[in-house]
Amino acid sequence: DISGTDNKGFKGHDMLAPFTAGWQSTDVDPLIIEKSEGSHVYDMQGRKYLDTLAGLWCTALGGNEPRLVEAATKQLNTLPFYHSFWNRTTKPSLDLAKELLDMFTAKKMAKAFFTNSGSEANDTQVKLVWYYNNALGRPNKKKFIARAKAYHGSTLISASLTGLPALHQNFDLPAPFVLHTDCPHYWRYHLPGETEEEFSTRLAKNLEDRILKEGPETIAAFIAEPVMGAGGVIPPPATYFDKIQAVVKKYDILFIADEVICAFGRLGTMFGSDMYNIKPDLVSLAKALSSAYMPIGAVLVSPEVSDVIHSQSNKLGSFSHGFTYSGHPVACAVALEAIKIYKERNMVERVNRISPKFQEGLKAFSDSPIIGEIRGIGLILATEFANNKSPNDPFPPEWGVGAYFGAQCQKNGMLVRVAGDTIMMSPPFVVTPEELDELISIYGKALRETEKRVEE
Ligand code: PLP
Repeated sequence: DISGTDNKGFKGHDMLAPFTAGWQSTDVDPLIIEKSEGSHVYDMQGRKYLDTLAGLWCTALGGNEPRLVEAATKQLNTLPFYHSFWNRTTKPSLDLAKELLDMFTAKKMAKAFFTNSGSEANDTQVKLVWYYNNALGRPNKKKFIARAKAYHGSTLISASLTGLPALHQNFDLPAPFVLHTDCPHYWRYHLPGETEEEFSTRLAKNLEDRILKEGPETIAAFIAEPVMGAGGVIPPPATYFDKIQAVVKKYDILFIADEVICAFGRLGTMFGSDMYNIKPDLVSLAKALSSAYMPIGAVLVSPEVSDVIHSQSNKLGSFSHGFTYSGHPVACAVALEAIKIYKERNMVERVNRISPKFQEGLKAFSDSPIIGEIRGIGLILATEFANNKSPNDPFPPEWGVGAYFGAQCQKNGMLVRVAGDTIMMSPPFVVTPEELDELISIYGKALRETEKRVEE
């Protein structure tokens, strides 16, 4: 049994606030996952669920890829650990750096730095940017602009960059050097009669006005996910990033692409930057980098930034930053194998082949009277429930419409991510057409149940 009900809504596991993660306790009757297989996971009672979020947007190769297990085992048997400090390192770490630098073609990248997570990657970005501006003799150019609804992580700095109130309130965040600009969600934020193009122009103008108000000499970097993930899966209008990049470039502000969710094929291009013609100065990676079989994140640094950091290092002192497990050889060996599989199996092409079924199959439910918007690209999608199909007419939160839908999915053998009345999905890249049929069918069933409940 999943849990009890209240008046209108359903208090299932997904009623837990979206970011109550990590605390290990049985008080809240957790769903305990024991085993995974392809796009499915199994709980302790042997119940099978289609895992539509690929864990947390990360198990791109699904649950039981033997080559990743072999890669880890081989590395564990050879060299389970060595660090990457003081000009010592390991072969898997060097090979992975080279591989990532070769793969990222939207803009040339010169150096890679490894972390254990996406949050650490984004924290590292902030230190890199600050060091860069110190090296250039402009110590006042230190502010960051991120976007409302962005998710960049949970550490103090990455949570500051995040644009979700839940990550700020009660923590005295965001830090004062972080500013937030508009979220490019056309459906929710466009003005009456405004086209996507005009909306994007307005957002770029707002950004420019903010930069001018703050003083361009104080703004160091702009950070963005190509498609916002945890903020509700928000693909931007087609020309949004062109316009934003023009502004950022004009004021000598670095562009950080947070590719933690979008990289390795999720959008139907190898990187999210390829999809939106983003030419970043810095890139953050994690999640599908190892298909989540080992924790690892990475930062890629363009030659322009790297040259400054490395050529000035004698004057400033070294860039003193690194983690015990930076470039962990087992994580790197697994990531190398994951990338090999993405390439060998033409994963980008595969995502392009199967994603129309996913996108069109689900968008066919857009007519539902309780759905405001279904949005997505490639293998990432969100459904937002709303009254009268309007972004300005949400259901009362106490109805728990999203939670009810999530619970119906779970009852029928499917796990989705619920955040308020937004339902998010990002299935593994290896999801099969049959599994997509299953996904669409359970979604449809859960939707009908939720419609009935709302009508009651
Ligand atoms: N950046 C983005 C876009 C993310 O989606 C996430 C995690 O969901 C992070 C950063 C933080 O990564 P991690 O949870 O590995 O610290």
